[in-house]
Amino acid sequence: MPTTGQIIRCKAAVAWEAGKPLVMEEVEVAPPQKHEVRIKILFTSLCHTDVYFWEAKGQTPLFPRIFGHEAGGIVESVGEGVTDLQPGDHVLPIFTGECGDCPHCHSEESNMCDLLRINTERGGMIHDGESRFSINGKPIHHFLGTSTFSEYTVVHSGQVAKINPDAPLDKVCIVSCGLSTGLGATLNVAKPKKGQSVAIFGLGAVGLAAAEGARIAGASRIIGVDLNSQRFDQAKEFGVTEFVNPRDHDKPVQQVIAEMTNGGVDRSVECTGSVQAMIQAFECVHDGWGVAVLVGVPSKDDAFKTHPMNFLNERTLKGTFFGNYKPKTDIPGVVEKYMNKELELEKFITHTLPFSEINKAFDYMLKGESIRCIITMGA
Ligand code: NAD
Ligand code: ZN
Repeated sequence: MPTTGQIIRCKAAVAWEAGKPLVMEEVEVAPPQKHEVRIKILFTSLCHTDVYFWEAKGQTPLFPRIFGHEAGGIVESVGEGVTDLQPGDHVLPIFTGECGDCPHCHSEESNMCDLLRINTERGGMIHDGESRFSINGKPIHHFLGTSTFSEYTVVHSGQVAKINPDAPLDKVCIVSCGLSTGLGATLNVAKPKKGQSVAIFGLGAVGLAAAEGARIAGASRIIGVDLNSQRFDQAKEFGVTEFVNPRDHDKPVQQVIAEMTNGGVDRSVECTGSVQAMIQAFECVHDGWGVAVLVGVPSKDDAFKTHPMNFLNERTLKGTFFGNYKPKTDIPGVVEKYMNKELELEKFITHTLPFSEINKAFDYMLKGESIRCIITMGA
């Protein structure tokens, strides 16, 4: 391998300032250090989280930075101590990791690794706090430990899922974030039984992935709830069978759904980030057995208020992070679901762009036109 141990010069889309178009730059990517892997990114997609931190309206800004966290690529070289990955492996970098050693990684029930749990504030690598990216000696910050808007990136090996080399990376790259979050919320947490009814609150990419989970689980009715009726047509392709826009009703959504379903849905999955929708999603499940799962990220000062009787009447409320998937252990299996034709990914991909036009992907997302836009590196 001629590049092993050497600095690689390649193209990256650098965010110099909050909210300003990314600039295509030649960056230097240092070799991977201890427990790190350098990956040649082949495809990346854009997720809301990239846009949110690029806008930097709610957080401490960290610029210049290389965004991107949904991607697929091939391992170029590995650093000291990496034993489970080697050059040539097909991989998905993931924004949250699995160290394999902490109480969470040892627990079958958790995917919230102590060492590699999502950290949006960190701009360097865990090993030494330094960045592996630079331009003329000036460091460029990492994002989520993945920074996939670069032809090469360095990632902690605990954040790298090795997948089936036959899987098309231009499709399965979307498995590394939003798709798995929604899919896992339904399949791993809400766990609808065949023939049950499922309500999905919020029909963005995450909610549509939750609907795909309901379809795979064999739900008999999938009820989509969204304030934006324009989302409904698209959602039909995802097996959503009925629609409720809370704005079209004088009574609370909980009541509308209870009337539609003879007392409430069996399962609900909230994918909006609105605390009102979270409360509605809980209160619309059937007493005795209903389970509601929260996925959306609320605002800082939100509080969830419901009458405790709703719990005493045997409703269950849960929340999930990344669909409860352990990134290294479980994500290769999600890719296999696609390979076995159980999971449909194509319908999530509404746009494609060459890397040189990455800024257009931000426009599509900001206008609400895209579910996922696949960006081809090296183009
Ligand atoms: P999105 O903005 O594309 O979709 C959200 C949808 O919710 C929109 O269609 C909007 O119209 C609808 N909505 C908003 N408020 C509503 C309300 N009160 N009632 C009904 N519908 C409402 O977002 P997305 O990318 O699909 O992400 C959804 C949520 O999931 C976000 O909050 C995101 O931060 C969160 N998320 C959570 C995790 C996790 O691990 N828990 C991971 C990724 C994303
Ligand atoms: Zn861990």
